[in-house]
Amino acid sequence: MIKKILIANRGEIACRVIKTAKLMGIETVAVYSDADKNALHVSMADEGVHIGGSPASESYLDMDKILGAIKSTGADAVHPGYGFLSENKAFALKLQSENIVFIGPNVVAIEAMGDKIASKKLALEAGVSTVPGHMGLIEDADEAVKIANKVGYPVMIKASAGGGGKGMRVAYDDTEAREGFASSKNEAKSAFGDDRIFIEKFIESPRHIEIQVLGDKHGHIIHLGERECSIQRRNQKVIEEAPSPFLDEATRAKMGAEAIALAAIVNYDSAGTVEFIVDMDKNFYFLEMNTRLQVEHPVTELITGVDLVEQMIRVADGEKLKLKQKDIKLTGWAIESRIYAEDPYRNFLPSIGRLTRYRPPTEGKTEDGAIVRNDTGVYEGGEISMYYDPMIAKLCTWGEDRGMATEAMKCALDNFEITGVGHNIPFLSAVMEHDRFMRGDLTTNYIAEEFPDGFAGHPLNPGHARAIASCCTLMAQFVATRAAAAPGILPGHARRVPTHVIVDVGERTYDISTEKTNGFYLVTSSEDGSDKAAVELEISSGWTPGQPLVKALVDNKDFTFAARPIPQGYMVYYRGSTVEVNVRTPAHAELAKLMPEKIEPDTSNLLLCPMPGVIVSVLVEEGDEVQDGQALAVVEAMKMENTLRAEKKAVVSKINAAAGDNLAVDAVIMEFG
Ligand code: ADP
Ligand code: ADP
Ligand code: MG
Repeated sequence: MIKKILIANRGEIACRVIKTAKLMGIETVAVYSDADKNALHVSMADEGVHIGGSPASESYLDMDKILGAIKSTGADAVHPGYGFLSENKAFALKLQSENIVFIGPNVVAIEAMGDKIASKKLALEAGVSTVPGHMGLIEDADEAVKIANKVGYPVMIKASAGGGGKGMRVAYDDTEAREGFASSKNEAKSAFGDDRIFIEKFIESPRHIEIQVLGDKHGHIIHLGERECSIQRRNQKVIEEAPSPFLDEATRAKMGAEAIALAAIVNYDSAGTVEFIVDMDKNFYFLEMNTRLQVEHPVTELITGVDLVEQMIRVADGEKLKLKQKDIKLTGWAIESRIYAEDPYRNFLPSIGRLTRYRPPTEGKTEDGAIVRNDTGVYEGGEISMYYDPMIAKLCTWGEDRGMATEAMKCALDNFEITGVGHNIPFLSAVMEHDRFMRGDLTTNYIAEEFPDGFAGHPLNPGHARAIASCCTLMAQFVATRAAAAPGILPGHARRVPTHVIVDVGERTYDISTEKTNGFYLVTSSEDGSDKAAVELEISSGWTPGQPLVKALVDNKDFTFAARPIPQGYMVYYRGSTVEVNVRTPAHAELAKLMPEKIEPDTSNLLLCPMPGVIVSVLVEEGDEVQDGQALAVVEAMKMENTLRAEKKAVVSKINAAAGDNLAVDAVIMEFG
């Protein structure tokens, strides 16, 4: 029996594993780096062992350090989570030789599936359909061009050792094949220390659908249905769901059977995932198998009721699977949103810093019968460091159907408070509001197609604008009431609390009056320039000035948005929109009309640093004429190099930064004349 598990990982996945171990009465050991001294996974575990410096290579990727921690704590099993050493054959072998249980599959499975070419060959053998392409390694750019022509453009050039979306390039012609080969090879070499490259057909507008499998050491393998992970950015998943809105029962059964056939060929004996891409005609092709717990496993847990970590621990311990294929029932719908520390308004550049406020929505069953689950490894006051994955949390919702799960996700996102670091909640909310997402009309190009120029916010719908106008009216009233009641105000000098106001919400203007009734406010609004009758809303709220989230009940429905006070109102953030709300008395509103339009400072003649980072190189000199799209400078942040490009033809008049400089966000790198 496993008595003590060491979790060779950090962040949310370490916390996730500890939760289940605790439920099973198994002791836990956390390992941590310098940067993670105060991390959540360390405080959750029974014991913690410091294993080294912040860079993963000095800690979470250092096998000897982890073996040392196993010995010093007497752990008898290791859960590797995902990433780091989870798919590392040498690590699994080392544990084996020390008689430590590896909570993952056998070494043969790890090795065979860790390599994309080797696994494609096995898939062929198992009768699984694979992406058409060349089954061998490519030596040089000339060969890449030859093979690409044979496979037929467009092609995908891929690193055999690839993972995490790295080391892959699409090519539509010979020039791109040549370039793609070189850049895939470089990226693979630095990311995986292995630059073997192969080429397969690029399937256009596919969906990414994967099958969760589970096997034991006694020859039993079942599948737990699919997850659709088509909402991707740079080939990395952002939103996942289970089941897939695209699959019918017959396709699901066929994909499930092929996934099991592939798993069986390597005697798969843990939780694993077989990834497919699926074309418009429901033809599906094997991509790769991940021999570990997958980031998005919670959505499967939510619709099957199976705790995958518990199953992994049991089968690693030699138990037979108690679950049979017929026991697996998919109930309802689950969605996962990956909340990343990144700035959606600045091309999703990573953001680092302290979480000055971190308040996730309440987990568990909601009043409507939906379920909210939030897997995280952070805490308020903690730091998102530059050393690791910038994921803050995985927010999941479950509902009886897709509509209900989506609605629950919208509300859960509304109620998620994060300040201190940039985050992608506005973007996730905007996707949830999209008609195309609601229709389930997904492909891996979704983000590129729907946000071709990046994310600039989502338009506020008229109903939401009116509700916000009405709520802000009450907020302004609460503030005025408080001011009127402040001690020290002479009788007769207190300001009257206006009950009739003019409210601008972005471009819309409402004439609003309020009336206090029993337990709520009756807010009547009519929109300027609209011949529609006035609308009455019944609103109550316990909001008090200073709270960044406004939670209200509007006509008996929960309505939550974020707001920051500004001189005559609030900046409101809701469902991907940012909108300025002004609440003024009719007299003030008349005066405001006479105010000159505010002119935003013109920054088009400046190149600003889009994130805190280090200048790697400045590629132009003072006096140079640059063309639209020309690379100007390279900034590194969180181990990612970002090339900053000219937005128009211009002449560089002044350069303010040099290679090696540490810049803050919005620092001026260069000026144009
Ligand atoms: P998933 O399908 O579970 O999202 P990904 O392939 O995106 O899986 O990877 C999950 C995590 O593991 C990510 O944090 C990614 O950076 C990391 N990862 C994946 N493959 C590798 C690899 N070969 N080497 C290092 N890290 C990896
Ligand atoms: P990783 O190991 O990085 O997860 P995958 O092979 O699983 O690499 O591919 C990641 C993503 O890249 C897929 O989900 C899919 O969106 C895209 N992709 C990979 N191969 C192809 C292909 N041949 N055609 C089209 N898209 C592909
Ligand atoms: Mg993959």
